[in-house]
Amino acid sequence: MKELSSAEIRQMFLDFFASKDHLVVPPKSLIPDNDPSLLWINSGVATLKKYFDGSVVPPKPRLTNAQKAIRTNDIENVGKTARHHTLFEMMGNFSIGDYFKEEVIPWAWELLTSPEWYGLDKEKLYVTVYPKDQESRKIWEEKTDLPAGHVYEVEDNFWDIGEGPSGPDSEIFYDRGEAFADLPADDPEMYPGGENERYLEIWNIVFSQFNHLPGLTDNSTYPELPHKNIDTGMGLERLVSVFQNGRTNFDTDLFLPIIHETEKLANGYHYDETKDTTENISFKVIADHIRAISFAIADGAKPSNEGRGYVIRRLLRRAVLHGQKLGIQGDFLTKLVPAVIGTLDSYYPELKENQTTIEKTILAEEKRFNKTLKAGLSLLDEVIAEAKEKGQKGISGADAFKLSDTYGFPIELTEEQAEEAGLSVDLPAYEEALQAQRDRARAARSNDHAMGVQNAALTDLQVPSTYVGWTDKAVLGAKVVAVLVHDENGVAQLTNEAHAGQTAWLVFDKTPFYAEMGGQVADFGTVKDQQDNILAEVTDVQNGPNGQHIHTVQVLADVQVDQVVDLAIDLDRNRAVSLNHTATHMLDQALRNIIGGDVHQAGSLVEPEYLRFDFNHEGPVDQATLNQIQDQVNEQIAKNLPITWQEMSIDEAKKVGAVAVFDDKYGDTVRVVSIGDYNQEFDGGTHAESTAELGVFKIVSESGIGAGIRRIEALTSIPAITRFEAEEQTLAAVAANLKVPNLLAVKDRVEEVQADLKAANQQIEALQSQLAALQAGELFAKPEEFGDLTAVVAQVKVENAQGLRQMADVWRDKAASNVLVLAAAIGEKVNLLVAADKTANAAGVKAGDVVKAIAPTVGGGGGGRPDLAQAGGKDQAKIQEALDQAKAILAQK
Ligand code: ATP
Ligand code: MG
Repeated sequence: MKELSSAEIRQMFLDFFASKDHLVVPPKSLIPDNDPSLLWINSGVATLKKYFDGSVVPPKPRLTNAQKAIRTNDIENVGKTARHHTLFEMMGNFSIGDYFKEEVIPWAWELLTSPEWYGLDKEKLYVTVYPKDQESRKIWEEKTDLPAGHVYEVEDNFWDIGEGPSGPDSEIFYDRGEAFADLPADDPEMYPGGENERYLEIWNIVFSQFNHLPGLTDNSTYPELPHKNIDTGMGLERLVSVFQNGRTNFDTDLFLPIIHETEKLANGYHYDETKDTTENISFKVIADHIRAISFAIADGAKPSNEGRGYVIRRLLRRAVLHGQKLGIQGDFLTKLVPAVIGTLDSYYPELKENQTTIEKTILAEEKRFNKTLKAGLSLLDEVIAEAKEKGQKGISGADAFKLSDTYGFPIELTEEQAEEAGLSVDLPAYEEALQAQRDRARAARSNDHAMGVQNAALTDLQVPSTYVGWTDKAVLGAKVVAVLVHDENGVAQLTNEAHAGQTAWLVFDKTPFYAEMGGQVADFGTVKDQQDNILAEVTDVQNGPNGQHIHTVQVLADVQVDQVVDLAIDLDRNRAVSLNHTATHMLDQALRNIIGGDVHQAGSLVEPEYLRFDFNHEGPVDQATLNQIQDQVNEQIAKNLPITWQEMSIDEAKKVGAVAVFDDKYGDTVRVVSIGDYNQEFDGGTHAESTAELGVFKIVSESGIGAGIRRIEALTSIPAITRFEAEEQTLAAVAANLKVPNLLAVKDRVEEVQADLKAANQQIEALQSQLAALQAGELFAKPEEFGDLTAVVAQVKVENAQGLRQMADVWRDKAASNVLVLAAAIGEKVNLLVAADKTANAAGVKAGDVVKAIAPTVGGGGGGRPDLAQAGGKDQAKIQEALDQAKAILAQK
């Protein structure tokens, strides 16, 4: 076996596919770009979806990458299996409508076995195929020298995640040898593809061959895709364990440095590479989680109570608790960050670049958790004490869930502590509460991998088309270069002509129409012939997969390919949108200046009527800060800053500090828009020419839209002024009602009115209790006698239950009788109150018992202490009956 480091293994993969004419794509952020269906990038292909669904044509049809990925569903496996991590690297090669099975299988074989490349022992390799995919089986058997008998057919090998591309796959296994067998040789799971540790799955090749159309359920009826794709994924850590002969993925140069650093902190515990121990699990979990946490923070995620932030929080807490198992005292996780960086720096420079942020964030969160642990422990003590007091055998699932969910107190700890106190935990109820929460979280996200359905005509469309709208708002003499109309199945097809009454897609050699992108909505407008007759109205424009602007038009008179036409956009709409787009950049800048550097855009919408800007931030932005932001934007508007743009190389753009989402889809040059020296941003949209055109900027709302994301909506120009006026008019109406001379006096006057109202309410309360006393005085003057006891039994008029209690207070002060029984009709309901003094109690009359006995008569229930008890009821007609019943009870005693 070759001696290769993890860095060499990764590089060799990329070099191999580069030698097969693949474009090497750098790793992307773990935070999905513009993809709300995914919480984390969880595979290599997840970053390339836009190419796979045909919405963008890739710079090259053959791509390769090594991509960091997070799979939270494998969290419980970490440290227990040899091969699962939360964060791992997936190496892949991809074909977008280019090569297929015939090429990909022999290449995989060449990379794995050729002495020039990985040079693995052929005898150790096994593959699985889908039983109906005999084509792949044949290629493995005939186009490679895979030993006979090393192909297994596995029913599961069909990749299908709902509507969209789907297809069979072929998995490659490495036989780690008998020493690794965790099951007897005759166990039904002991084969390549079974759940065992001997045959290690290293690589999965997915043949994206079919189109799972809506309504189809049987995969043998799926039609073939117009463009077939290949998507593969090989786990780097698993391959490294093979080369470095590690018992598990952890016994490699990717993890051992982190584990050894942890050993230095552990209180006498050691990691044993030769066998499984419980301590080993803790070392592995810590090493795994610190990698995931470091990467996630480097990519801009932060610990919080929701979504991604919650994953980081959970991983960190698990790591801390495993640290405690190793006897590690105090905060320790930051001390492992340098080791993480050391193992991965050569390929992921973002770790080193963000080291300070990573360490600061981890330390703050670790301190917070240690506090939480203390608080949780004392809360748990209370729960345990209460359970014992009530004579319960265990802690309820609801309490256990509350401890874990609200206080972040791990369930294992709850169990341990409870056990020490001789109590159990209602785990099924806990699990149920947990599952309910998971379901809620899942429902909040849509289908995990959803992809759109390709349109072959658009994917194949190669005609050049240039956007000139940055400088020209109209084009005279443009040529129609493509016409598409939808066929009877709703699929757009190329044609020569669109007819009056049809909805069609048109492409022109030059166009002033902006296609919806980066949040900015499309331009609308008209297509005219050379005699100034309107041929079509443009109602939408989208970017085609090859970058052409695809105009959706309502055809008024026939339009043909090659026809020469005049194009004009709706200037008012474009201008309003442009002003709002400039305002969006200014708002972004003001947010970063005022709230801080960490704030970044999470989405935006630029419409003619308003703009909407989403950004990451925990908790609401307060009014004072919003005012500051609005003021800053307005100051920059008043400076009348010029807005200019420039095309430059990506490197230059980074140098001048332009804010950007750099992505391979933009090619080598980017457009940078500058607003004076206030803001520079990478952007393809249209803008005002100078800030003064915006007139004025007004924020109209700030709200949370989930998982640490806030949304600001704002206006510019006339709509902003209209809004200011509407608010002013509302205030003027209030001023008129309050009869104050000017608007600024409204606030003081409202405060006066509120103070008056408060005083009036207090007076009402005082009067009510006087009234109660008066009523009581009469009532208490002549108690009835029941043997040795005296009692007042009566129906009274009060406003609420509070009124009854006030009367009982008076009764007690006056010691008016031994027993008091009151009933009142309040609204639709009945309220009962019974009070009894010590003498009555001694004679066996308890308030609680009396109420319990008479409440059912008025259709209610209740109880209470011996001295005071209350109950509610529904049946007002039975009040007298209940009172008579009370008298009868008293008479008996
Ligand atoms: P397994 O069944 O072992 O969990 P999988 O079927 O989920 O693997 P795929 O989704 O096909 O794996 O991913 C492709 C490759 O990525 C796998 O062959 C494996 O090498 C690697 N891989 C998948 N999940 C993990 C993980 N949690 N940790 C490390 N490597 C992984
Ligand atoms: Mg898996």
